[in-house]
Amino acid sequence: MKPSKEDISALLKGVAHPETGSDIVSGGFVDEISADEEKITVSLRFRKARDPFAAKIRDRVEQILAERWPEARITVFIREGEGNKAKDAIERMHEKTTTRGIGKIIAVASGKGGVGKSTVTANLAVSLRNAGYRVGVLDADIYGPSQAKMFGCEDYVPDAVSENGTDYIIPAEVAGGIKLISIAMFIRPTDALLWRGTLANSALRQLIHQTRWGDIDFLLVDLPPGTGDIHLSIIQELHIDGAVIVSTPQQIAVADVVRGVEMFRNENVNIPVLGIVENMAWFTPRELPGSRYYVFGRGGAARYAAEAGVELLGEIPLIQSIMEGSDEGRPAVTTDAEVEERYRDIAMKIVDKLR
Ligand code: ADP
Repeated sequence: MKPSKEDISALLKGVAHPETGSDIVSGGFVDEISADEEKITVSLRFRKARDPFAAKIRDRVEQILAERWPEARITVFIREGEGNKAKDAIERMHEKTTTRGIGKIIAVASGKGGVGKSTVTANLAVSLRNAGYRVGVLDADIYGPSQAKMFGCEDYVPDAVSENGTDYIIPAEVAGGIKLISIAMFIRPTDALLWRGTLANSALRQLIHQTRWGDIDFLLVDLPPGTGDIHLSIIQELHIDGAVIVSTPQQIAVADVVRGVEMFRNENVNIPVLGIVENMAWFTPRELPGSRYYVFGRGGAARYAAEAGVELLGEIPLIQSIMEGSDEGRPAVTTDAEVEERYRDIAMKIVDKLR
């Protein structure tokens, strides 16, 4: 049944702004409501820039709409200030964004490069697909985009189609239906330096808003390592529902990882940290499948997770098949039963946390 604007407005009256105490409809925080059979879109306007309650209110609004209309695709935008021309232009772009059909957006982050962030992203994507979800991967790692290689589609050249005056970018379809778009598809390896910074930022914006994802349940975003301007702009452009941090045992306690967790938890950002994946947790040689060598130290991730109040989602050993899978364009989840089981477990924890 199509919900009416009045129904939605009545429901939103049940949400109060913690600071003023008044409900968000009477308080003038609800800018726009639109609804059809499948989609409900609500824009919230906060006059105060970076209102610390904005994300909480958005989440609450999403929650009550989802409870009432569980079948609908729900999008809640946050707008700031009184509204001016420049902002309106950005908002119009957001309204056209192709991310509307996406159920949940998960960022995969790490403190440093080389810890396996891209490998974890690719294997998680396959696990989610194996569980029956429709999955997309956005490779936003401008410093080392490797998803196209991980999925063996380095030669893919994305098509652009124009429909009703809007240009769309068509993602690759890999590993039995995973949609993949990567910044690497738009740069040559020799261009890499040139593309960093501003240029990469604007290219990413286009990828974010113009990729034709269609309806998918999860979009995994492979972020660049560390924290920086590029992260901030991705966080502003995409409504990220949760972050997964990847670390190796010896990297876990270092400042980079802590900074990563703090970046998502910052009160202006407010993205839930779903947990940590400890990668390369131990080494199991092929000829001694039962043995574990803790080459990078033991137990660090569990200790840090407990201290920081973050869940340890799982541990992935250093296994030859994982490296070979990345090199051969076939994530190891598809070929190795142990890897498959470990990733399935992590994927299901993530799904549960985002429910
Ligand atoms: P990042 O995205 O953090 O820079 P990558 O995912 O590219 O790191 O991984 C770096 C290298 O380590 C790759 O060659 C990858 O195949 C390998 N690798 C990652 N995780 C594992 C693992 N658990 N076992 C074996 N090799 C791994």
